[in-house]
Amino acid sequence: MSLVVMKFGGSSVGDAERMKRVAGRIAERKREGHQCVVVVSAMGDTTDDLIDLSKQICTIAPPAREMDMLLSTGEQVSIALLSMAIQSLGLKAVSFTGWQAGMYTEAVHGKARITDIQPERVIKALHEDKVVIVAGFQGMTEDGEITTLGRGGSDTTAVALAAAIQADVCEIYTDVDGVYSTDPRIVKVARKLDAISYDEMLELANLGAAVLHPRAVEYAKNYNVKLVVRSSFTYNEGTMVKEEAAMEQGIVVRGIAYDKNVARISILGVEEKPGQLAKVFTALAQEQIDVDIIVQSGVLNGQADFSFTVALSDLDKALGVIESIRQTVGFREVTSETDLVKVSIVGAGMVSTPGVAAKMFEVISDLGISILMVSTSEIKTSCVIENGRLNEVVQALHTAYGLDTDTTAFVGGPAERR
Ligand code: ASP
Ligand code: MG
Repeated sequence: MSLVVMKFGGSSVGDAERMKRVAGRIAERKREGHQCVVVVSAMGDTTDDLIDLSKQICTIAPPAREMDMLLSTGEQVSIALLSMAIQSLGLKAVSFTGWQAGMYTEAVHGKARITDIQPERVIKALHEDKVVIVAGFQGMTEDGEITTLGRGGSDTTAVALAAAIQADVCEIYTDVDGVYSTDPRIVKVARKLDAISYDEMLELANLGAAVLHPRAVEYAKNYNVKLVVRSSFTYNEGTMVKEEAAMEQGIVVRGIAYDKNVARISILGVEEKPGQLAKVFTALAQEQIDVDIIVQSGVLNGQADFSFTVALSDLDKALGVIESIRQTVGFREVTSETDLVKVSIVGAGMVSTPGVAAKMFEVISDLGISILMVSTSEIKTSCVIENGRLNEVVQALHTAYGLDTDTTAFVGGPAERR
């Protein structure tokens, strides 16, 4: 017998029929003899619909506390209905909101981090042979206020709970079969990965692959939670997310991700003196604006240019911040570009393999496309390009690194050594 945490996303419980099917799936797991804790998201587009409603009421940003009060209801509907559906199948079940399940968070509305879990009620209900259904995406502060964890946060609830109750596995059920080498909507021959390391998954999730929430992967890595991503509609084996050491060696690039939420800002003619970069980026950080790739050009006539990327959704705010420090920094001009995309290749084997990034640049330039910015880490290389030809680029990279199904993976190194 093992202890299993199963997480179902909004599309898996989108209507009553689907809810019943999910209940059936859980009942099977229970009848196999496992203890089951289930984390569930709000049904279908409920969260979006609730956000729309709040916009109809408020002309400015709604009060954050009430927003959490509102959004947490979505998951509360799901847990009650799912518990009913399971009980209709003749099994014992009980639903818990985030706070009933002991999910404590910091006192931040809209994107709270989990600070502590006190799962006594969950454990007690398991001992009573119940299937325990917990609302995803929500928690409570020490002062008893309801919080939410940020969009997509139910994954994090599931993984954190799995760590807290020392579950044997955390299964994330979703509307795809697992983690793919790239977006199958772009590349028809994308392959489903049998396994991927925490670090690779974290990069892919951060770089735009929507299948898992980055914070959930971070949690899984830190607490060594065995994660499986699989379909709630089929019985196909999913993708295992696990430690690097347990991975099949020799694959250099495991996946290709892209992110269209990118804008580039250039500050031109910046007076060259120490501390200039610090001034700009401190001001942005104070406004919670994340900066990604930063490039500074050489100094000419005592002036430098630099460019950096921010999320497209932060562009206006970032431009405002820069305008506000124009006097203290001293620069000639600010420009910005949108309609960009960041394409990234990710693989743990890159660290020790020469020529991986070079190949990426070659593939993109062979298509006659300019690379606007580059950034690298040990296990990824990202290029910012114009958005227009994204599909072609992803396809060409997928082929070049041997990721197309039924081909051999690129093993790196200069051509003559391969
Ligand atoms: N219902 C929340 C959302 O749509 C949380 C989740 O689905 O994970 O973002
Ligand atoms: Mg959702």
